[in-house]
Amino acid sequence: MKKLFSLLAILILVAQVQAQLPRIIILATGGTIAGTGASSDRAGYTAGKIPIEDLIGSIPTVKKIANITGEQVASVGSQDMTIDIWKKLAIRANEIFTKNEADAIVITHGTDTMVETAAALAAALPPASGKTIVLTGAMVPYAFGSSDGLFNLGSALSFAQTLPAGVYLAMNGRYFQWDRVRKNRETGVFEAI
Ligand code: ASP
Repeated sequence: MKKLFSLLAILILVAQVQAQLPRIIILATGGTIAGTGASSDRAGYTAGKIPIEDLIGSIPTVKKIANITGEQVASVGSQDMTIDIWKKLAIRANEIFTKNEADAIVITHGTDTMVETAAALAAALPPASGKTIVLTGAMVPYAFGSSDGLFNLGSALSFAQTLPAGVYLAMNGRYFQWDRVRKNRETGVFEAI
């Protein structure tokens, strides 16, 4: 009986800790962060193949960081991003914030047009939404051990909890305001402007 009470107490404690964690919804759109294939050069892999659930499950400490849920909005390389996908992202983001379904949103995205999507969302969302959106991606496909994707996703989840309301990009351990960053087309590195 004593053991049963201890177990119950632990379960209640775990539930309380879980309830206190921030809630983050990841809206996935594809990109190299979800890419897989025979090799990591551009011709050797396809972007947007790995489902968001697998990405989330690949971060060992994920349950300690936040209450995280993933939604697959699209599965494209961001060179193929469309206005239709932008609309879906904006409508869902607005709904999440209006209905208070989450404290912040992280968006996984290809790097080629990540800045453009960030700008579109910043323009589409009412400033009163008052919450944080962080876009992130990768330069090396998920399927390769050296991928920067999980590191970037982990950083984005942390930044999403601490940054004030607004739209940001998280890459290489840094965050950038959406209108203060560009992707250097020669090096592929995101740099502040
Ligand atoms: N072409 C890919 C895309 O933008 C590259 C990347 O994900 O970084 O989706």
